[in-house]
Amino acid sequence: MSSAAVAHLPGTIRPADGSPTEPVAPTPLQEVPAIVARARAAQPAWAALSLDARAESVNRFGRALLERHAELAKVMAEEMGRSELECIGDELMSAKEFIKAAIGVARLALAPVKVPISKLDYPGKRAVIEAVPRGVVGIIAPWNYPIGNFFKHLFPALLAGNGVVLKPSEHTPRSGAWLAKLCAECFPAGLVGLVQGRGDAGQALLEGGVDALCFTGSVATGKRVSAAAGERLIPCSVELGGKDAAIVLADCDLERTLAGVATWSVFNAGQDCSSIERVYVEASIADAFARRMGQFVGALRVTPDPKADIGTLQNPRQLEIVEAQVKDAVAQGARVLCGGARTGQGLGFQPTVLDGCTEAMQIMREETFGPVVCIRRVKDAEEAVRLANDSQYGLNGSVWTRDIARGEEIARRLQVGVAVVNNHSLAGVNPWIPWTGTKDTGPGVANSVFAYPNYVRRRTVYVDAAKQPDPWWKPVDENFAPFAQALIERGLKGGLGVLLKLGGLVSKRSKAIRAAAQKTDSAR
Ligand code: NDP
Repeated sequence: MSSAAVAHLPGTIRPADGSPTEPVAPTPLQEVPAIVARARAAQPAWAALSLDARAESVNRFGRALLERHAELAKVMAEEMGRSELECIGDELMSAKEFIKAAIGVARLALAPVKVPISKLDYPGKRAVIEAVPRGVVGIIAPWNYPIGNFFKHLFPALLAGNGVVLKPSEHTPRSGAWLAKLCAECFPAGLVGLVQGRGDAGQALLEGGVDALCFTGSVATGKRVSAAAGERLIPCSVELGGKDAAIVLADCDLERTLAGVATWSVFNAGQDCSSIERVYVEASIADAFARRMGQFVGALRVTPDPKADIGTLQNPRQLEIVEAQVKDAVAQGARVLCGGARTGQGLGFQPTVLDGCTEAMQIMREETFGPVVCIRRVKDAEEAVRLANDSQYGLNGSVWTRDIARGEEIARRLQVGVAVVNNHSLAGVNPWIPWTGTKDTGPGVANSVFAYPNYVRRRTVYVDAAKQPDPWWKPVDENFAPFAQALIERGLKGGLGVLLKLGGLVSKRSKAIRAAAQKTDSAR
């Protein structure tokens, strides 16, 4: 689509009450390469600063964010249909701690690695592996956490010495713009750029010369973006969908489990890649669990209620998906224990509990992204593990039990990136823990030292300060075969005798090679 054809971005209603907002203009596609070029121009001076100096700027950003959190929360709440308190609680209040941990991770990930080298085999040699910033990192994020989705890549990319270009979702452009404005105030001019627009703007960013891409979003787009990055041979981290399972065992602390499973099912109105979307409950406690879950979730409130526990859905399409999946489940025999319909205000959907869910239902197979607890009764833990693993996704999984050792053993059998006992999505806000998954969740990694290939390439500097030629250099002479034989003997038997023999042969070979070189020189 040409930029001229895009009049404005959606998100022109407030999800909480359906009232209109001002449209946001997309970035003309032809301007995207210049935004990348500005970040590229600012990057070398930024990379030349010490890590401490870059960390100080990132800390300054964190302080500014906290000082102005109320202003930002207003923008986020308006775009997301959540209360300001919820936005502050989930994405802003811990920003400083998140940054502190991200700096700790950066110190470890960026530290040069000295290579251990045998002095006998490689005399006079040393090597160090260094982290070199990629250049400009593009970050494409979805709408569900319009600020937090950027943090996990923005801070490490900057700490590693990169320029960055942000591409917020078309559904949450104002939060993205606010983030980019604060970056412009805290970092050198042009270092953090912003591209607004739909998918074509994301594509333009990828084609606009970025050196690496961090993408969070749907499976379909993630595959397209990965293929396009592959064509350009640039690294691309994709973190895609989820259909997380919780396994509730009969010996769990029922009250704590109810509150925990309910929370992680309806968190952000379920619009969380690691939302609990399937709950496998052992049959012996299933009646009590389901009944009490219905009461617990049924008491939760949705915006615009001033005491709201959760927000509305963010966009009309999302509301339609949730509604359609609930309808399909009910048509196939699921029992509605609470909720099950729109709230009637804005894009609100009632917090819902469905009992008697089965694998035939869309809601047990496809990503829902809604405030719905889906209960599937199982005979035992074995059946629960089998069904939990029968999914195209594998982000987080949890086991709820009082028997911690058994819980850990079962958690390890889940085909997921983060396996949790007695909690669920909490690892996502810890910069030390790799946020990654299996299967269609994608191979991408955010957070932790394991994410650093997104932000740095590795360069080895190998220095040879040896005085003599290496013994395996050319030309081959009568000592080469005994030298090779001595190396094999050392590998098989070792011992002082063979080491002494080897030392003598190394010396003879080196001298002979230098003599051959000298002869060539004197003949010239
Ligand atoms: P999309 O894949 O539709 O969009 C993700 C981002 O990519 C948006 O900024 C989007 O722009 C952009 N985009 C769309 N098309 C292209 C393209 N061809 N090239 C480059 N960029 C493009 O996902 P949603 O926004 O619907 O997000 C929801 C999904 O995100 C869910 O599946 C959820 O599970 C997943 N997610 C995963 C997380 C994880 O850590 N694994 C965390 C959070 C969400 P635009 O919106 O303007 O179209």
